[in-house]
Amino acid sequence: MKMHNFNSGPAILPQEVLDQAAEAVLNFNNIGLSILEIGHRTTWFGEVMTEARSLVKELMQLSDDYEVLFLHGGATTQFMQVPMNLLDDGETAAYSENGIWGSKAIKEAKLFGNVNVVASSKDKKHSYIVKNFNVPADAKYLHITTNNTVEGTQWHHIPGTNVPLVADMSSDIFSRPFDFSKFALIYAGAQKNMGTSGVTLVVVRKDVLGKVKRAIPAIMDYRNHIEAGSLLNTPPVFAVYVAMLTLGWIKKEGGLAEMGKRSKEKANLFYNTLDALPVFTPIVAKEDRSLMNATFAVKDPELEKEFLNLCKESGMVGVKGHRSVGGLRVSMYNALPLQSVQAICDLMKEFNEKHADVVMGNA
Ligand SMILES: *Cc1c(COP(=O)(O)O)cnc(C)c1O
Repeated sequence: MKMHNFNSGPAILPQEVLDQAAEAVLNFNNIGLSILEIGHRTTWFGEVMTEARSLVKELMQLSDDYEVLFLHGGATTQFMQVPMNLLDDGETAAYSENGIWGSKAIKEAKLFGNVNVVASSKDKKHSYIVKNFNVPADAKYLHITTNNTVEGTQWHHIPGTNVPLVADMSSDIFSRPFDFSKFALIYAGAQKNMGTSGVTLVVVRKDVLGKVKRAIPAIMDYRNHIEAGSLLNTPPVFAVYVAMLTLGWIKKEGGLAEMGKRSKEKANLFYNTLDALPVFTPIVAKEDRSLMNATFAVKDPELEKEFLNLCKESGMVGVKGHRSVGGLRVSMYNALPLQSVQAICDLMKEFNEKHADVVMGNA
């Protein structure tokens, strides 16, 4: 029996994507070769790459001003590749810091230019999102993290700004419709909501490129990847293939509008349950709660282990919180069925009933 997979990433994938990927490992498109054995410059893989890129453009409704790239190195590489390409020595970039991933992006950007941290929720352990702040007009760009995977907060609208907007969307990419034309550059590691690890999506509006004076190593220069159609060197062939399958699944299921609807439904069920159970406590500000990663805790920390054991016995994985935050976390990415959320909600109710007296007594 398949487990309820609440992992934060690499994370759950649709069953039919797994089935097709498994088949392709043995015999890709009936060509008598595995997807793992074909050259990246073959027509076979060329079609995969073209389809993956065109699905991204279609799902996000991007104009031809944008290019879609599949690169190596994870979102972490983008922490440096973005400023290397967009921020010159002596220039300033604005960063909003609402979680540990944003902090890491800031640290890397400082290697290339000046960083103005225009908003930070560090004072309260990133348990909320700073939504009002000013961006200096001369900032080269504003960088945000749309969903804070570790802390469990999420931007529920796109912040208005007059400078180019750059977003790390690693953990909520393709989970909801947006006006993506408001962004100059978007990046996302594939392993949370759009595939498996090893490939990173970069969507870039071409007009922001080619403005810095520094020499950029060839493999780090987005323009070279654009020119080569994401085939500058050997791409992660299998990871691109799994991304293509996942994007195809999203389209078939109804696209971003449908993903957004399902995400709301799952998150509503989860948070309504959480709010009704005194044994548990939420961690972050209600208005900033993430629809993707719900963080919470057992009010009495002594009982946490018991709850985690119960999860394990009930076939649930990935419920333990990130080591830097502690507590519990339930990730509800696109491929997670509503039934899995229902299952953990039922378990939480059961646990609440068992321990309600204890919590009341302690209060
Ligand atoms: C997971 C994650 C990262 C890091 O991704 P890697 O692919 O491991 O480099 C960066 N930002 C966010 C928001 C994430 O969730």
